[in-house]
Amino acid sequence: MAGKKFRVVVNDDKCYLCGGCAGVCPTLAIEVGASKWRFIQEKCIFCNICVTACPVGALTTVPLEGEE
Ligand code: SF4
Ligand code: SF4
Repeated sequence: MAGKKFRVVVNDDKCYLCGGCAGVCPTLAIEVGASKWRFIQEKCIFCNICVTACPVGALTTVPLEGEE
């Protein structure tokens, strides 16, 4: 199902820690706390849902190279 593997990165200047991305991630690969956003690579299935769900476009992806 997944094409390319990637890492999800947050733009701290845009993110207001609403938790929306964490709420839609099917594998709980994102944790949003009161003061920080965290991505858990091992849980990510590269569905891209979080990126499209963020209301302020704070998330982008960076290709993982050399990892299978
Ligand atoms: S949905 Fe966007 S603004 Fe909300 S916590 Fe996630 S990255 Fe931050
Ligand atoms: S790409 Fe999918 S699995 Fe990975 S963090 Fe975003 S919503 Fe979760």
